[in-house]
Amino acid sequence: MKKLALLFVFCLSGIFLRAQVTIEHVEPPFWWTGMQQPVVQVMVHGKNVGKTQVSVSAPGVKLVKSQSPGSDYVFLDLEISKEAKPVTVIIEFKDENTTVARWNYELKARENGSSQRKSFTTADNFYLIMPDRFANGDAGNDDMPGMLEKADRNNPNGRHGGDIKGITDHLDYLQQLGITALWCTPLLENNMPAYSYHGYAITNLYKIDPRFGTNESYREMIAEAHRKGIKVVMDMVFNHFGTGHWWMNDLPQKDWVNQWPEFTRSNYRAAVVTDPYASDNDMKKMADGWFDVTMADFNQKNNFVANYLIQNSIWWVEYAGLDGIRQDTYPYSDKDFMALWMKRLREEYPNFNVVGENWLNTPAQLAYWMDQTGSRDGYRSYLTNVFDFPLMFAIQKAFNENEGWDTGLTRLYDMLTMDVVYPDPSDMIIFADNHDIERMYPVQKSIENMKMAIAFLCTTRGMPLFYYGTEALSDRGSLEGDAGKRKDFPGGWEGDKVNIFTGEGISKDQKEVYNYMKTLLNWRKGSETVQKGKLTHFIPEDGIYVYFRTLGNDQVMVLLNNNKKDKKVETDRFSEKLGGYKRGIDAVTGATVRKLDKIEVEGKSARIIELSK
Ligand code: CA
Repeated sequence: MKKLALLFVFCLSGIFLRAQVTIEHVEPPFWWTGMQQPVVQVMVHGKNVGKTQVSVSAPGVKLVKSQSPGSDYVFLDLEISKEAKPVTVIIEFKDENTTVARWNYELKARENGSSQRKSFTTADNFYLIMPDRFANGDAGNDDMPGMLEKADRNNPNGRHGGDIKGITDHLDYLQQLGITALWCTPLLENNMPAYSYHGYAITNLYKIDPRFGTNESYREMIAEAHRKGIKVVMDMVFNHFGTGHWWMNDLPQKDWVNQWPEFTRSNYRAAVVTDPYASDNDMKKMADGWFDVTMADFNQKNNFVANYLIQNSIWWVEYAGLDGIRQDTYPYSDKDFMALWMKRLREEYPNFNVVGENWLNTPAQLAYWMDQTGSRDGYRSYLTNVFDFPLMFAIQKAFNENEGWDTGLTRLYDMLTMDVVYPDPSDMIIFADNHDIERMYPVQKSIENMKMAIAFLCTTRGMPLFYYGTEALSDRGSLEGDAGKRKDFPGGWEGDKVNIFTGEGISKDQKEVYNYMKTLLNWRKGSETVQKGKLTHFIPEDGIYVYFRTLGNDQVMVLLNNNKKDKKVETDRFSEKLGGYKRGIDAVTGATVRKLDKIEVEGKSARIIELSK
C-alpha cells in the first residue's frame, strides 16, 4: 500500500509537476568502443530535454560536456576510455533530482582492423548507379507508409521503384562486366513530396529510405559486394539536406542552416572559392546560398553541425563497412570545415579515400581541391581524390570533330599536359558521363566513337567510371532534361522486353559495345601496368594519338586512330619506348602482333597492345 502510494506521488510529479520529457531522436543512434577519437557528441532531441540535468553511467564512459542550445535539444560529449568494453550506457535525464527520462545508448565492439580498412585504388573500375532507375528487386517496397511520394513509372521525374535488392541481385552482372567499385547515388531517406528519386534531399542522415530497403539490407548489399570483389562507395551530401527533415520543425539552433532574409540561391560558381580576386558577396552566395528551395543549406561553421556531419560519415563507414565516400557539391560547403572533416576522417581511417564532386572546368581550379597541391593561399584540403571534369569535357569533343591543331585527339593530349598542376593525377576518377551530364552515346553519336572513348578511359591515367546503361548504349530517347539522363535500366523491371542483364532483345550495336567494354574492363582488372604504369604520350599527328603505360619491364602501347580510314602507323617516332620490344598481344582480340615497325589501326578505332620482348 505504501509502495503504491509512493509510486503514485512519483507519477504525479512526473506528469504534472515536472517538465514532461519525451525523447524523440538520439543521433548517432549508437557508437563504438576503441575508436581513434575518444569523444562522441550525441544529439538528443525531445520536448524539454534541454531543460534537464543529464548524467551517464557505464564503466569507462564519462560525460565530459552537456550543452543545451535550446529547450528541446541537448548535446552530450561522451568520452570513451581506451579500456572501455562494449556496453549499454544508461543516460538519465533529471529534473530537480527526479528522473524524467532514460535512454540506453549502446557502445558496440568494432570489427577487426576497421581503422586500417582499405579503400579504392587505381586498380578499380567504377560503376555509377542511380538506384531508383536500376532494378526493382522488391515491388513490395515501391510505396511505403509514411513516405510522401508514391511510385509512378509513367512520370519521368517520379519514383520508379528501383531498390537495394535490385542492386544486390545483379552484383554478378557487375562482376562479370569487370566492375570492382560501385557508387550509388544517395540511398538515405528523402521524404520529399516530389523528385525524391534522386536522393539528394536527405531527410534522415541515419536511415536508408524504406523504398530502397533498410540499413541492414544496405549493409548486406555491401557484404555481398565484397564477397564478389566489388568495393562500395557511399554518396554523402554535407552541403544541404531536404527541407522535409524533422529538424525544420524545430531547428537545434537558428544557425543550424544558413539563414537569409529571403530565399537566396547559390550562384553555383564553384570557381569563386579558389579565385584570388573573389568578392565577399560572391563568396557568401556561393557557399551560404541554398542549392534549391527544397534543400536547406547546412551551416558547417556551427561546431555542432560540424561534429554531427563528421560523426555521421564515420558512423556509416564503420556500420556499413564502406570502401570510400563520394562527397556531393564539394565547393558549396565551407571549405575549412571540409578540410577538418577530411582530416578527422583520415585520422580515424588513414587509408580511406574520398572523391569530391568538385565540378570545375579547368585543371588549375580542380587541383586546388586536391590534398598537397600547395596553393598560394595556403589551403590544405586533405581531400584524396576528385572527379576529372576537365578531361570529361575533352572526351565529349575529342572523337566527334575534325582533327586540327587544337581539336580532335589533341584535346586529350592538351588536357593531360596540364597534369603538372596535380599532386598525383592518377588519383582522379575519369569519366565521360554521369547522372548530371548528357549520356555518352548521344554525345559520342556512334559506336566507333563510344569504343574509342571507352578504350581511352580504360588505358589513360586515373580510375575509369562508367554510368549505368553506358555499356548498352542508353540514350535519352524522347525525354528532356535530367529524366533523359536517368532512364530505367532495361531489364530492371518485370516485363521489360529488352533485358541487358540477360542480353535478351538487345541490338547488335548494344551487344558489340557491351562486349567491348566487358573485355577491356576485365583486361584492365588484370593489368597492373595499365593500372599503375607511368604514362608517356606523343603529340598527336595525322589523327593518331599514341601513348604508353610502363611498369618495370612491362609496357602497354595504345594507338587511337581518329581518321575514318585505316592507318598503317610508322613507329620510328616512338622508338624511345619501343626499343627492345619485338611483338605484342592485342588486349581486345588476344591476337599476336608480330611486327612493331608498322602497326595497323582501323579507322575510328583504338588498338591496345601488351608489348613483349
Ligand atoms: Ca522497389
